Amino acid sequence: MAWHKKPKTNITKLRILRIFVQLIMFFLLNLGFFSIGATWLVLPINYPKSLYSSSEDAFFLLQRMLTDSIVPLIPLASFFIIGSVFGRLFCAWGCPFGLFQDLIGVLTSRIKKYEPTSETNNSLRQIGEFITGATIIVSTFIGISLSLQNASVVENAFGIFIDQPWAVLSPSVFLFTVIPLLFWWGGIENFFIWEKFVLIDLVFWIRLLIFIFAIILVIYIPKGWCRWFCPAGIIMGQIGKHSILGLGRNISKCTHCGLCEDVCPMGVKILSHKPEKIRSELCTNCLDCMAVCPENALELKFL
Ligand code: SF4
Ligand code: SF4
Ligand code: SF4
Repeated sequence: MAWHKKPKTNITKLRILRIFVQLIMFFLLNLGFFSIGATWLVLPINYPKSLYSSSEDAFFLLQRMLTDSIVPLIPLASFFIIGSVFGRLFCAWGCPFGLFQDLIGVLTSRIKKYEPTSETNNSLRQIGEFITGATIIVSTFIGISLSLQNASVVENAFGIFIDQPWAVLSPSVFLFTVIPLLFWWGGIENFFIWEKFVLIDLVFWIRLLIFIFAIILVIYIPKGWCRWFCPAGIIMGQIGKHSILGLGRNISKCTHCGLCEDVCPMGVKILSHKPEKIRSELCTNCLDCMAVCPENALELKFL
């Protein structure tokens, strides 16, 4: 039927547009390159403070403030204000680590993708929730310990986890901070000075393994890291379920063809949600489902 072509064209255009917007966001997030910084700009995305970043990542700021025994009002406000209005919109349209995963998806589009069952999705998501909860508890514990005990005792106890515990394991820190620092050490003119590689330690290899795991995951399961393991995504998912902006499905137009579920990169079971609003913690408002719907039954609206 003729409409089969139209959704395919629509979705290709939308994905190109989204990558374009993500690249502009990446540029804006790195205005530090032009000595323009905005440390007050705290966003619920996965882009830790790196060489030239001009904004703060809410989850990493939250950890830093907790380990410094400061009530993390600013990152919490960022999560709640942005999440309750826009949901996880920044995940699809503004997060550099989301862009990285999208680009891997484009480059490996010929490799067969897998869609896990709902049970697998839920079990793996619980691991992400555990990581998020544990990071917040450990950060709080470090902050309290530092205010009660001798700093050097606490530093010895927590070692490299002392500042931002999740930063040690996060693949986005490895991609945006560790790798650039390694190659930028001493400036671009020192790009090929191999002596710096003596700085590589066991933690580097652990980080590298987690980074490789994230890449393999994303090759076979679209947005695999975003679905299950990203702490910012876990927090935003819980808030975003209740956001004002969201997708609605017009049941008088919908034919239950299932195309929308087939293209959803986050595996959202769109048809099992109430039609007035898709209240899924996974939905990032990427709009792929809207672009592919042959009946124009899905719409983005303020609910
Ligand atoms: S869930 Fe994905 S897109 Fe959202 S902040 Fe985390 S890495 Fe970025
Ligand atoms: S919303 Fe659109 S794509 Fe999804 S099942 Fe209904 S008609 Fe098909
Ligand atoms: S439900 Fe639609 S908007 Fe939400 S993540 Fe899936 S494809 Fe994107």
